[in-house]
Amino acid sequence: MEKDNILEIKNLHVTFYTEDGIVRALQGVEYEVKHNETLGVVGESGCGKSVTSLTIMRLLPKPQAKVEEGQILFRDKETGQEINLLELPEEKMRHVRGNRISMIFQEPMTALNPVYTVGDQIMEAILIHNPETTRQEARKKAIEMLKLVGIPAAEKRVDDYPHQMSGGMRQRVMIAMALSTNPDILIADEPTTALDVTIQAQILDLINRLQEQLGMSIILITHNLGVVAQNADRIAVMYLGRIVEYAPVREIFHDPKHPYTQGLLQSVPRLDRGGLKEPLPGISGNLPSPYNPPPGCKFHPRCPYVMDRCREEEPSAVEISPGHTVRCWLHVKGEKSNE
Ligand code: SF4
Repeated sequence: MEKDNILEIKNLHVTFYTEDGIVRALQGVEYEVKHNETLGVVGESGCGKSVTSLTIMRLLPKPQAKVEEGQILFRDKETGQEINLLELPEEKMRHVRGNRISMIFQEPMTALNPVYTVGDQIMEAILIHNPETTRQEARKKAIEMLKLVGIPAAEKRVDDYPHQMSGGMRQRVMIAMALSTNPDILIADEPTTALDVTIQAQILDLINRLQEQLGMSIILITHNLGVVAQNADRIAVMYLGRIVEYAPVREIFHDPKHPYTQGLLQSVPRLDRGGLKEPLPGISGNLPSPYNPPPGCKFHPRCPYVMDRCREEEPSAVEISPGHTVRCWLHVKGEKSNE
């Protein structure tokens, strides 16, 4: 594992065995997260971006989901040790989950318990992960966390129930809860999708500010490239269980190589499209059924540049410049494929 990295996902394959058929949800997913950086993971719903984070957290539904292959290497900041999360005993994984890696979701109402006050729920997170803390200390810390995430009159609102708060406030509470244990990595899965545009911007600013203040790495998962433009250092674009392009944020926005990334960029409003030589009118068609994916390149039924070879053979990921990989026949020259 490279010393700058806190997380490395290697050749991850996950399959779902369902009554309706088999879904190869992840096919050789690889990415890394550096200390204190934000990685944006982008793609349409069903592309595997959330399955990847559930695999990191070891929260895949059992027995339907199976990790067929791969490694998830995590460097524990406390001990400096490198561990494969997929091989960690469940008891130790429970410590990692919540303490070292925390997660926030799209709709906080489903993650918050409606019958407990927000203060009780933050306190519970603190007490579970730090059993030596007293309830008084935990309440003090809960109030501190609510202040940190910008909840006004935190001393009073700590006793509110989730339904007494707005959607934006509830998302702030979720962030407070996720960060109350001072994790090394925060996984934010569509954290702003359910919110209106102004509140979205405020929540993203908040996450950025907290990252600087507390020092942590973030995996920001979204279907909207616009969300990661200001917030990510590097971006992984996913399509039907594969990473089709992976690059520093500037390269994704100024010199996107994969036709799918180019199409996604067309759907981002107010984008400087100077870097796109042949603008696409967005992406036509729908994501194919994961039960019955097309042969060859999985994007070929929607790709404006499709060639015969694309319909038959799937391209491997090729590094076209340092840190920039793309999975497309248009960028494979000779034997340069790295797989
Ligand atoms: Fe399009 Fe072919 Fe590239 Fe797939 S491999 S994205 S179909 S050009």
